[in-house]
Amino acid sequence: MDAHFLAPQPTPLSAPFWEGTRTGELRLQQCDDCGGWRWTPQILCTHCYSPHFGWEAASGRGKIYSFTTVHRPPVPTFIAPYVVAVVELDEGPLMLTRIVDVSPETVAIDMRVKVKLTPLDETITLYPFTAD
Ligand SMILES: [Zn+2]
Repeated sequence: MDAHFLAPQPTPLSAPFWEGTRTGELRLQQCDDCGGWRWTPQILCTHCYSPHFGWEAASGRGKIYSFTTVHRPPVPTFIAPYVVAVVELDEGPLMLTRIVDVSPETVAIDMRVKVKLTPLDETITLYPFTAD
């Protein structure tokens, strides 16, 4: 079984994010009116409901807000155990991701992490995080 059947499918709204990861940036939407950052992609600001925004490069850094270790993967191509986490980005939004290159036993709440952009194919670059 090929893991690509689970690959993200960019939409017109999320395409700038995927263009960013492919070119080395973790981009988030930032509101033109209040400056608030948001994730996941939305058509309106989650702080002030403004429809005006730009895609800006975020720091790619944050800390672990919550996590779980998966021991029974949903597909055989996912090698368990692995860590799924919610990372609180330094810009504020929460991002669901994976933690890689770290032993699952050492992962902890508030652990500092940074994005490790990882190409899946020529169009999709995934955004797992690793220890900072
Ligand atoms: Zn706003």
